[in-house]
Amino acid sequence: MRWFSAVVAVAALSAALFGILGGAQASPGAAVAKDADGLLPGEVLERAEFALIDARFAPEGTALAEAPDLAMFTANGRWADTALPVPVRYVFATDPKEVSAFGSLLWSLRRWEAVGGQKLRASYAGAFATGPGVTCTDRTRDNVNTVSFTKLDSKLLGTTCVFFANVPGTQTRRILEFDMELTTEATWSASETTAPSAFDLPTVVLHEMGHAIGLGHTAVTGTVMQEALAPGTQFRVPAQDDRDGLISLYGDAAAPTVTPMALPPASFATRRLPALAKE
Ligand SMILES: [Zn+2]
Repeated sequence: MRWFSAVVAVAALSAALFGILGGAQASPGAAVAKDADGLLPGEVLERAEFALIDARFAPEGTALAEAPDLAMFTANGRWADTALPVPVRYVFATDPKEVSAFGSLLWSLRRWEAVGGQKLRASYAGAFATGPGVTCTDRTRDNVNTVSFTKLDSKLLGTTCVFFANVPGTQTRRILEFDMELTTEATWSASETTAPSAFDLPTVVLHEMGHAIGLGHTAVTGTVMQEALAPGTQFRVPAQDDRDGLISLYGDAAAPTVTPMALPPASFATRRLPALAKE
């Protein structure tokens, strides 16, 4: 079996200053309610760092030299309770011919929600036109969370960039926006079984959504958030390590249980593209 290694880069690439968004100023002495993260309104948003989390796949035989030595999930931040459900928009205009990740996206949102004992919720918020702020590469924040296709580097299946703010005085990061890009250059499949030469689109979308909601990679194999993906394989169900990661971020024993949905066959990507064609 051919295995493709994945290399993760979770890096604060730059620090960007931007305006306080809707920050209500507390009057001295006034009793202003703090939110679940212990923050006053507007307290978090003076400074944002841009984090790029990407999943690369390398030619056969490439060692996992850059794989972090982790025993379990990593977490990069979380959405505030007040930001739930996370609104996600889909850029239909960038779909390759006969390929769409729309069905995989809807399914992946429910798949993560259906992890019990936690309150992460995300919902489809409509179509979005392509333009500035959609891609990761332009590093533009537009307050819209998008999923689109693009021609990525020939060794990239997908990339998700997450904008977050450090919560002052804590080790907590609050996620403010994400943009997910899937490559047009892979041989995608969303069939019930994945051909040995194809990559499972639902698995990749679920993995990238994991980044979008705050999860990093894990060294535990057989997980959604593992850092290696082989063609012909699927990881469509969050494993215990994935679930532990989500619960660490959004744990709430009282949260109602969400039922996962079946992948809608009509939204499957079935077109086989030339595998990793170079220009
Ligand atoms: Zn990843």
